[in-house]
Amino acid sequence: MSKTDSHFLDHQVAADLLSVMPVGDRLPLTSDLKSLPMSLFIKTVEQSPIAISITDRKANILYINPAFTEVTGYSETEILGENESRLSDKSTPRQVYYDLWHTISGKQVWQGRLINRRKQGQRYLAELTIAPMLDEAGRVSHYIGMHRDITQLHQDEQQIKNQKQLIESMINASSVAMVVLDREQKIILDNQMYKMLHTELKHPEPALFFLQALQHETGELWSDEQTLGQSFNNLEVRVEASGARTTRWFSCSGNFFIENDTQADSFFSQQTKQYLLLSINDITRQRQQQERLQIQVLRNLLAEEEHLRSIRETLLGAMHQIGQPLNQIKAAIKLMVQRNDTENQPLRDLLNQVQRMGEETLATLGRCVPEIPESAEMPVNLNQLLHEVMLLNNQKFLVNGVVVDWLPDPVLPSILGAENKLRMLFKQLIDNAVNAMNRGSSNERGITISTLVQHGWVCVLIADTGPGIPVHQRNKVFEPFYTTQTGIGSSQAGMGLVMVREIVNQHRGLIEIDPDYSPGCRFNIRFPRQHSMTVTHHE
Ligand code: FAD
Repeated sequence: MSKTDSHFLDHQVAADLLSVMPVGDRLPLTSDLKSLPMSLFIKTVEQSPIAISITDRKANILYINPAFTEVTGYSETEILGENESRLSDKSTPRQVYYDLWHTISGKQVWQGRLINRRKQGQRYLAELTIAPMLDEAGRVSHYIGMHRDITQLHQDEQQIKNQKQLIESMINASSVAMVVLDREQKIILDNQMYKMLHTELKHPEPALFFLQALQHETGELWSDEQTLGQSFNNLEVRVEASGARTTRWFSCSGNFFIENDTQADSFFSQQTKQYLLLSINDITRQRQQQERLQIQVLRNLLAEEEHLRSIRETLLGAMHQIGQPLNQIKAAIKLMVQRNDTENQPLRDLLNQVQRMGEETLATLGRCVPEIPESAEMPVNLNQLLHEVMLLNNQKFLVNGVVVDWLPDPVLPSILGAENKLRMLFKQLIDNAVNAMNRGSSNERGITISTLVQHGWVCVLIADTGPGIPVHQRNKVFEPFYTTQTGIGSSQAGMGLVMVREIVNQHRGLIEIDPDYSPGCRFNIRFPRQHSMTVTHHE
């Protein structure tokens, strides 16, 4: 076919081409299709936004549609009769052309991408499909080429890929563990540091463990009203020591974000999905340093408080001692008045005087009893507090050969309380346990301290391997100045458990000596868990 007689696709060429079908699409023309006018097919091709060309067996161009001119810059007069290789940019590897020809000459459809050059010289990336068409004898008679310029699409794809790679490498290089979760708490994305948490914490999915711990403190994290940009910052989660592992601290931050659904069915009604980016920063080293300093401060504070308490106990003990004979004097005076005993008036006067002086002394002593300073109530993590008390008592445990078994609940909710009082409470119970074991005959000296959550209560169990408290004394030990330790050398004033019960009551808690625990003694203390939405922020 010459260049001049093929400037446009005449009806005869179109009819010839339509009588042959692309291989693979060789379906019998239905009577309906045959009844359609030929001009309709020609218009369809001409109006197609895809660049379409029809060539002979050697890729010489017989027909182009207007979209071909638009994409390549070549008009009919310039390109008809020319070979498709006019479009070729030599930067396409030869192998691509080899594959292309190998496929189409084997009567198969070829699809691929190659670099083309427009008439004006600019390169563009073409996505090309070539379909061979067969004649009656089954030989290739023509090829149909369909291509579109996908340069912009490719650029966008590459840019997204590059950005993804950049974000992934930044996230992976971060020293903070990061994980993205959907509303069903399914992990969508994570980084290297997060993967390391798996092995370090020995938890099948650390993110779920952290979410559970955070929800204990803040309540439900996900809410329907959650909108883009909502976040929480630096919420601290403590992971208790177990086995050979030490206690770890993590600072958790979360950012909620939404993503538009990319599915076709949500094109008209935009659907969104909610995600949470959770960052988990290991702050164990900072917290250990802080804790060391804090323990030093606490040691001084506690020594001061104990000093105050011993003065209180001494004075209250003295008042108790004075109170007893004074009550007897009161009773004697009352008896003398009742009997109208006038004979012993000088004795009555003396007794009245002693009583007056005694009451004055009691009042003076009462004024001297120092108050233990009140401290503000705040959310307290009992695991943390008990851990501090154990550190404070370390020396004592070593000296007395006491082995401590620490069994904390890994995720313990906070309670509302005064830290200094609670610290005194536990220190008292631990001191009592060590003293009791020193008195006992058993060689085994062990204290087991456990925490757990039970029916909305945060429970602490302190058990020792000492001689235990006999059943008939179990209520009395909470009475003032009652002590199970008798005889010379007794250093106990019998006010320790009075203080313990007072502190438990102030915290709306309960304390009991476990009736079923033996041998030894176990105190069960429980406090209502904190139900507020208060979150402790550690900046
Ligand atoms: P060429 O010398 O043309 O060919 C390179 C290799 O291709 C040869 O070594 C040979 O192995 C094989 N080859 C070439 N012609 C034939 C043949 N008739 N039979 C068997 N093998 C053959 N190329 C583009 O770059 N851009 C396009 O948009 C494009 N569209 C095409 C559309 C159609 C319908 C067809 C049939 C081909 C199209 N081609 C296109 C391929 C084009 O014809 C060239 O093969 C290609 O451009 C390479 O050109 P070249 O001059 O570098 O090498």
